[in-house]
Amino acid sequence: MKTHWKKVVSDPNFIGEGDFQEGEEKVLTIEKVNQAETVQTAEGKSKKAVVHWKEAGNKPMILNVARSKSIEKVAGSGYFEDWPGVQVQLYIEHGIKAFGDVVSAVRVRPFRPKAQAPVPSCKDCGQTITPAMGKDARWLATYTEKKYGVPLCAACAQKRKEREGEA
Ligand SMILES: [Zn+2]
Repeated sequence: MKTHWKKVVSDPNFIGEGDFQEGEEKVLTIEKVNQAETVQTAEGKSKKAVVHWKEAGNKPMILNVARSKSIEKVAGSGYFEDWPGVQVQLYIEHGIKAFGDVVSAVRVRPFRPKAQAPVPSCKDCGQTITPAMGKDARWLATYTEKKYGVPLCAACAQKRKEREGEA
């Protein structure tokens, strides 16, 4: 059976380009692999192998051949059972030609992640930035830094937004 790329990339319940800031790379820890999870797309339901993450606020990732090969390199094993606890680094590759279209896709780096700087605290309240609105803490910190010039938690970003609205 053939698999159209749209079947793999169009389900909003799974990690995709929209979950990344420009240039962002995510380091995530595999919690488990579901070998046959139902994926809903425009073309109907199908069963896919899906990776779930330990870090809250990150959508699961559908496995394809390229992603699986990279995880195998990082894990040192091609067996799903050996993957929980393995950290991988995800990034967006742009300009992939697929069926006459140019698309972007989530890719897995075929090497162990480099150590990342810790997620900064919120500049307004001083609290640790936590996942919110379906986004992880690092995404929120990067997003608010770009928008407001300082990293903010979701609650403080909302307050600033309201203040801007009143001004
Ligand atoms: Zn805050």
